[in-house]
Amino acid sequence: TDRFVIVGGGLAAVNAAETLRDEGFDGDIVIIGAEKHLPYERPPLSKGYLLGQEPREKAFPHSAAWYAEHDVDVVSEARAVRLDVGANRLTLADDEKVSYDRLLIATGADPRRIGIPGVHARGVHYLRSIDDSEHLRDALKSGDHRVVLIGSGWIGLELAAAARTYGNEVTVVGRDKVPLDGPLGTDLGTMFLRLHQEHGVVFELESEPQEFAEADGQVTGVVVDGRTIPADVVIVGVGVVPNVELAEHGGIEVKNGIVVDEHMRTSDPDVFAAGDVASAYHPVIGQHMRNEHWANAIDTGKTAAKSMLGIRASHDGIPYFFTDQYDLGMEYSGYPPLTKDAEVIVRGDREKREFVAFWLADDRVVAGMNVNVWDVNEQVQELIRSARAVDRTRLQDPSVALADV
Ligand code: FAD
Repeated sequence: TDRFVIVGGGLAAVNAAETLRDEGFDGDIVIIGAEKHLPYERPPLSKGYLLGQEPREKAFPHSAAWYAEHDVDVVSEARAVRLDVGANRLTLADDEKVSYDRLLIATGADPRRIGIPGVHARGVHYLRSIDDSEHLRDALKSGDHRVVLIGSGWIGLELAAAARTYGNEVTVVGRDKVPLDGPLGTDLGTMFLRLHQEHGVVFELESEPQEFAEADGQVTGVVVDGRTIPADVVIVGVGVVPNVELAEHGGIEVKNGIVVDEHMRTSDPDVFAAGDVASAYHPVIGQHMRNEHWANAIDTGKTAAKSMLGIRASHDGIPYFFTDQYDLGMEYSGYPPLTKDAEVIVRGDREKREFVAFWLADDRVVAGMNVNVWDVNEQVQELIRSARAVDRTRLQDPSVALADV
């Protein structure tokens, strides 16, 4: 029988395993995961689960019974450390050898670490795993802490919202002039800035921490521009780094992630990659893209599984992302590489934060973000997919159906 091995026990991995069985694969499926948990979803870790509003089980797509029923062997607390593509064999940290007929690398990403004095002090947190989220919840829930967030991207802002919701004093230290300046642009980034300011979050922008002050091994502050912001909880959220070492040492092509084509095939015919670790060729925009989002892990995991079985499948969907902060919920669909110099058109009520924003390049919608407006994501995606020229005045006018703009 064929043996398909999946390294990494996250969302991409579980979707691949499920798809292999759905497609009728009856060989061996082995998931090798470094964590002690079954595969789980990470979005709740900075939102509902962190806030104690969602039960733990909700983060797990499947229970242990599902893996047993589908004959998927999950090997937990096992790390693959070497890959020999010539011999179709992996070596685990305990030196065990695992051979494969096809291999999927779905090792995800880890938080980018910063290297300033004081980072190892007690009270300094990173967030990636469910254990990290539980530690953070314990650190935040009493609501009487001084919390400093390093990083004003999505994770930094979600954590600022969570820390504030618990009642803590919160300061965000961000490198850009407004939060989310890169992904959204200054104008919409300013909307997020105001949202957080209204909830009492203080911002130190265009700043970077020089060091973390500590006393007896416990963090006491963050030094920014020569001043010390008092803190007893510091959370660093400055992006992630794809876990490419295994592939790289195995001689697989790596460039800002494991390079795969639209079928999730790497430079080795028996090896595939999916999820945060993969830099996939996107046939619609004609470039490689690493997409660190939930929907991407699901879609690319499924596509990779089909490709492993020799079923023709492409990953050509529109990148999708969502966030929840306080009472603001949003969905974003689109191609970030195409929004750089795009014009932004807003449809709806910006002041009330109920609108859809569109990014236009050459009169075509290349991205859209719905903020507290629901059930429009499919129409937004349809506009992007059609790549047709749109009329700005009609696009702005909520009384004109999106299908008719
Ligand atoms: P991962 O989920 O990172 O799983 C990879 C697994 O592989 C890990 O368990 C890792 O320990 C393991 N591993 C790594 N190396 C090895 C090895 N050598 N051997 C064995 N195992 C290994 N996305 C959204 O779209 N919306 C959101 O709101 C959102 N919120 C998020 C909030 C948080 C706190 C985080 C951390 C992420 C969030 N994301 C969100 C991103 C989303 O969770 C990721 O895109 C998704 O988890 C990627 O799945 P993956 O399977 O590629 O990788």
